[in-house]
Parts: sequence; structure tokens; C-alpha cells
Amino acid sequence: MITSSAILNAKILIVDDMVANVDLLHHMLRSAGYTSVTSTNNPFEVCDLHRANQYDLILLDLMMPGMDGFQVMEGLKKIELEGYLPVLVITGQVELKLRALQSGAKDVISKPFEKVEILARIYNMLEIRLLNREATNQSKILEQLVQDLQKQIITDPLTNLFNRRFLQEYLPREVAKAKRVAGSFAVLMIDLDFFKRINDIFGHEAGDIVLKNVAILLKNSIRESDVACRYGGEEFVLVLSEVSTDGAGKKAEGIRKAVMDLALAIRQKSLGRVSTSIGVAVYPDHGVDMDSLLRAADEALYEAKENGRNCVVMSEVGNIRHG
Ligand code: GH3
Ligand code: MG
Ligand code: MG
Repeated sequence: MITSSAILNAKILIVDDMVANVDLLHHMLRSAGYTSVTSTNNPFEVCDLHRANQYDLILLDLMMPGMDGFQVMEGLKKIELEGYLPVLVITGQVELKLRALQSGAKDVISKPFEKVEILARIYNMLEIRLLNREATNQSKILEQLVQDLQKQIITDPLTNLFNRRFLQEYLPREVAKAKRVAGSFAVLMIDLDFFKRINDIFGHEAGDIVLKNVAILLKNSIRESDVACRYGGEEFVLVLSEVSTDGAGKKAEGIRKAVMDLALAIRQKSLGRVSTSIGVAVYPDHGVDMDSLLRAADEALYEAKENGRNCVVMSEVGNIRHG
């Protein structure tokens, strides 16, 4: 909805070489309640003025010395890239009316004009202009909203990592890509050890601090083309693209050590060492689709827990124990 006060506050420019015409229009618009009316007798400065002020309406004379109204409209078209010229032509030459409309003017009024008619046309034109602008703004806001929502749908709010939903979209794509180029990639399933104790001893807030910091560490440990997800409560999944079994095992081991080195505290109170158990599965050695890879990584993780935690287990092919 466009209010009449918005219309009366719209920015209007009067362009006419005859001072008397300008004064007449000025007076008429002021009396009708318009608050932002400016004018020029110089057609050459219209484009600069419009670029600087973005008028909602330009009342344009056609016959002016040096540069006529048609040339002014050509110049304005280059500024109004969406092609909407907020121009109302006022002319004494009846035969130019059609040409003015064809040149982009939104309306034409003949001189001499009736005040009530020109005021009604100005009001209507401004209403359309402001509605147009509102619609454009709304669609920009909507576009942004959709973008934000799309991001939210695939993001874990606590850690800002991707979530499980994203992983379920991403992994099949990664499988397809690896298949196409006969490449390999790794899935690391990482679970914090005895995490419940941290919550129990230091409180849930401390647990959240640990999760956030481990997430930052994971994100910083991988390449731009890799993906880090929070898979569940204190469980993370990394997808490392274009990596060998050996490379994936080393990476997992590096991460296990780096988490051990974290020195986290809450209100100056140390949270002690945090350790992780990591199961690793590599495409195509341990699985050739999302489900089999996740299952293989999960089984390896289970073994890592069984083996005493704080260690990395490679699916099927081996079992490296550390710590
Ligand atoms: P394990 O070594 O066998 O993995 O033991 P654990 O204690 O890490 O595993 P368990 O599954 O018994 O406990 C996981 C805990 O993680 C329980 C749950 O309250 C906690 N948790 C899950 N999500 C969150 C969260 O968002 N914030 C916090 N602070 N804790 C969470
Ligand atoms: Mg755990
Ligand atoms: Mg768990």
C-alpha cells in the first residue's frame, strides 16, 4: 500500500526553459501538498540531476533550446537501466504526443492543461512508480530470505558446520564424482570420547564450548574442497576429497592429536583433555555408495571405541592404535 503522504513526499523535477511555466507548475504542486519539488531551465543538467537524486517523476517540456525533450529522454534511458522512465511530457505540440509516448514517456499532457487533470495524472503516475519500487524492494528481501533459509536448512546452528541433511545430499554427489574420474575420497567419522562426563562435571554450557572448538579445529584442518558436518550430538563427519587410504589415515591421526592438544576452559577453569575416536572409510575400497561408506566408517569407529578410544581405525584394511 502506498500512502498519500508517501506520494506527496515523492521527489519531482520540473524541466522547462520558460521560467513562467516552471513557476506555474511549482506553485500548483506546492498548493496540492507536494513537498519535494525542484526545477531546472537547463535540459543539459537533467541527467546529472536524476543520477544524483533519483526522481520519482520528471515533468518534461519538449521544445527547449540546445537539447529537446526527446534527447533528454534518450539520456535518461541510459541511467534508468530497468527501462522505466518516470517522465510525464507536457507539450503544446499535439502532433508530438504520440512520438513522446513512443520515446518512453509514461504519459503526455497537452498545453494548455487543466490543473485538476494534470494533478490527477501526476498522482497516479507517482502511485505506480512507488508501487513499482516497493515491489522491487520486497522481491529483494524475499530473495535474501530464501538464501538465508537455504543456508539454515543445511547448517548446524551450534557449530556452523554443515548438518546431517547436507551430508545426505553431498555424499551421493561425491560418490558420483569419484566414479566419473575413477578417484577416491574418504569419510571420517569422529566421536568425542566420554563427552557426557564433560556435561556432567562442568555443565552443558561447557559441553557446547567443546563442540564449538572441535568444530573450528576440524574446519581448519581440512581443505576448501573438503566438507565438515556435525552428524549428531558429539559426532562429526569429514569428507575428504581426492585422498588415498594412506593420506586419509594420516589426516585422521593428525586430527586426533590436534584435538588432544586443545586447551579449553570455562570461566578460567580447565576442561581437561578432550579425546576422539575416529573411524575411516575410503571410496571405493570400503564402500561404493553413501550407505556402505557411512556404515564402514561407523563400524570402524565402533572398533576404535572397543579398542579403548582415543585412536583411529581404518575400515577393514587395518587397525592403527595410538595413545
Ligand atoms: P563415548 O566415548 O562412548 O562416545 O561416550 P560419550 O559420553 O561421548 O557418549 P554418549 O553417547 O554416552 O553421550 C553423548 C553426550 O553428548 C550425551 C549428550 O547429552 C551430549 N550432547 C549431545 N548433543 C549435545 C549438545 O549440543 N551440547 C552438549 N553440551 N551436549 C550434547
Ligand atoms: Mg562420544
Ligand atoms: Mg556419540
